Amino acid sequence: MASKRFEESCIFCKIVAGQIPSKQVYSDDDVLAFHDVNPAAPVHVLIIPKEHIPTINDLQASDAEIMGKLMLAARKVASQLGLAESGYRLILNCGPDALQSVFHIHMHLVGGQKMGWPPF
Ligand code: 5GP
Repeated sequence: MASKRFEESCIFCKIVAGQIPSKQVYSDDDVLAFHDVNPAAPVHVLIIPKEHIPTINDLQASDAEIMGKLMLAARKVASQLGLAESGYRLILNCGPDALQSVFHIHMHLVGGQKMGWPPF
């Protein structure tokens, strides 16, 4: 079996490897979720593939399953943190205009407050 993609310089790969501490809320073979170090909402969790994929632009057809798993993990985390009824927002930033700052795909799960729309 091919080994998981890993990028030594990537801060989220280091979190997956346990080289940088994080407050984890969910983990399985393919997905990790942990609290954002600089929360933008009362609840702010990052849900990431354990494999290194830099941006949405880099996704291949073979990544469809892992992206589906991120969504399923989001559902579990939202339920675990008591947000299923009140609601929450899932955000994927891609590239400069979206202000992506960490180049390892991550889904923001934010909640615990009433949101505004549009988000820009
Ligand atoms: P982006 O702007 O790329 O969509 O979001 C990156 C997110 O990662 C930011 O919300 C930032 O606060 C968070 N972040 C960056 N470095 C770390 C870290 O070392 N640990 C944790 N838990 N979050 C981080």
